[in-house]
Amino acid sequence: MIGTPRVPFVAGNWKMNLTRAESRELAGRIAAAGPEFGGSTIVLMPPFTALGDVAAALTGSDVALGAQDLFWEDRGAYTGEVSGPMLKDAGCAYVLVGHSERRQYFGETDATVGRKVRAALKAGLRPIVCVGEVLEEREAGRTTARIDDQLARGLDGFSRDEIERMIFAYEPVWAIGTGKTASPGQAEEVHAHIRRRLEEGYGKTTASCAIILYGGSVKPANSNPLFKEKNIDGFLVGGASLEAESFIGIVREALLAYREEK
Ligand code: PEP
Repeated sequence: MIGTPRVPFVAGNWKMNLTRAESRELAGRIAAAGPEFGGSTIVLMPPFTALGDVAAALTGSDVALGAQDLFWEDRGAYTGEVSGPMLKDAGCAYVLVGHSERRQYFGETDATVGRKVRAALKAGLRPIVCVGEVLEEREAGRTTARIDDQLARGLDGFSRDEIERMIFAYEPVWAIGTGKTASPGQAEEVHAHIRRRLEEGYGKTTASCAIILYGGSVKPANSNPLFKEKNIDGFLVGGASLEAESFIGIVREALLAYREEK
């Protein structure tokens, strides 16, 4: 166990799914389960079109709102983009940066990740910074080298204070939306590596307090064993966050593991 036991942090990435009405319904059901969450940090990340509806559905609950992406400028002639201050204004506290789907389909690079992380922090949002290797990199034994690259290039020039406001998500690309989950041991190995790198760069306290999420086909059935690993602080959930029962089940199982082990 590293440092103080931490309650689970579980974020739901709804991706490009759900209408406004469907979003209100799902957010309402998750908010209603709040008393079960036992102090866990729960974040819902709907598409931009539903941010206002989900913000309203979460009013009075402890469930937080996040967005799936942002642009690095505050305002101006950037058709189609949404800025940090706009997300803050919509009620967001968190924003995903560098999700593998953004890297894969929209040309996001480690350099743009760095600019977006800076913009998020400037707007008072906590960025959830995603890193992860593709299958060929894992098979070639280059997983940690890839993670090191992403961290070094994406987080170049940030202060310790800024690093402490970030949340990290390890998402092996081969496990996202594929039904293949990293085993608890495989995930733990990379989480421990990320924490070691944070310790080398920013010191023991910063590293031991860092929240490092796992993402990649998390469901209620694998939440418990994954959360039992000492460096896994919670989850970034895609597909299973679109159903209230499975999302709540993931939180429930993580909480059980927390109470048993941590
Ligand atoms: C994700 O989108 O970040 C993700 C982990 O998706 P899934 O849970 O569907 O694999």
